[in-house]
Amino acid sequence: MSDQTNRQILLAERPKGWPDENTFQMKESPRPSPQEGEVLVRTVYLSVDPYMRGRMNDAKSYVAPFELNQVLTGGVVGQVEESKHPDFQAGDLVTGMMGWQDYSVLKGEELRQVDTRLAPPTTALGVLGMPGLTAYFGLLEIGQPKQGETVVVSGAAGAVGSVVGQIAKLKGCRVVGIAGSPEKIRFLKEELGFDAVINYKTDDVKQALKEACPDGVDIYFDNVGGEISDHVVRRINKYARIVICGQIALYNLDKPDEGPRVQTNLLINSALMKGFIVSDYQDRFKEGLVQLAEWVAQGKIQYRENIVEGLENAPDAFLGLFKGENLGKQLVKVSDIKE
Ligand code: NDP
Repeated sequence: MSDQTNRQILLAERPKGWPDENTFQMKESPRPSPQEGEVLVRTVYLSVDPYMRGRMNDAKSYVAPFELNQVLTGGVVGQVEESKHPDFQAGDLVTGMMGWQDYSVLKGEELRQVDTRLAPPTTALGVLGMPGLTAYFGLLEIGQPKQGETVVVSGAAGAVGSVVGQIAKLKGCRVVGIAGSPEKIRFLKEELGFDAVINYKTDDVKQALKEACPDGVDIYFDNVGGEISDHVVRRINKYARIVICGQIALYNLDKPDEGPRVQTNLLINSALMKGFIVSDYQDRFKEGLVQLAEWVAQGKIQYRENIVEGLENAPDAFLGLFKGENLGKQLVKVSDIKE
């Protein structure tokens, strides 16, 4: 990384199916300068997230598509290099939506200070950031967990899923996690204390669910969709709540998914199935962050991060999400924090 050059990763082509090396392009531009009210931020950590795959399509969704030949954007923790805004000064650690690039210029209002007294700065992109809040509000508001209920979470060893399972344990539930590698299964069972775990790549999911949920499923927190979810939904109890958080198994399909119809199952069980976007709870983010930070400080919620080095490796880190390469939150380290 040079002081004067700004390396940027652009969306070069809209992927059909899986993104590949043609999807991304690295470009070099001069380092930008802030105007009055703006702040120049050097990227320290950037977050790669599954929802970004949807933004690569030219399709209407809850966030606008990425523009072709423009820099990709996402959550970043960075360090202020130069500030023309009264609330920030050089050296501050900040977070906001920034580019996949070395330097970004933002209005001061688009940035938030990162409080490193609470936890390491990376957590602002994970357990104490968007994924943690997704777990918190999705599970507590839609799932409404009660003592003794059975909660199944798919994508259980990822950024969102690992927090969902731990909150459900704190609420006194029986927690069953579904994930895709022996290392993840061991982590969920031995380190996070999940009651049962299923490796969807090697286990017979239908049979394993039957054994793991002898009293049926009261809450299903769905991060993945597809066949895994078909199996879980068939085992729901009366008044079950199905929280639709993500459908990562479907994001790289090149034609629409045709799964089984679930309405009868919901009807006969008086069940609720509800999708949500974390920003639905924007007004309450502060409340969520205070509670999550307290749980992390008390050691009641543990978190993992998978950190890849180098801006040039951001596309591979992003693709790794769809191959299950990450345990916990996937981040890319772009530069060092300067003292
Ligand atoms: P994760 O950290 O969980 O990473 C993605 C994981 O998904 C991978 O590690 C992999 O784990 C699993 N996965 C990938 N492909 C498949 C597949 N075909 N079938 C089953 N599992 C698969 O990501 P996040 O925690 O950031 O996100 C989890 C989900 O939540 C995503 O679907 C995302 O889109 C959604 N989300 C929704 C939000 C909202 O506001 N509604 C906000 C944030 C995230 P494994 O090895 O187990 O396969």
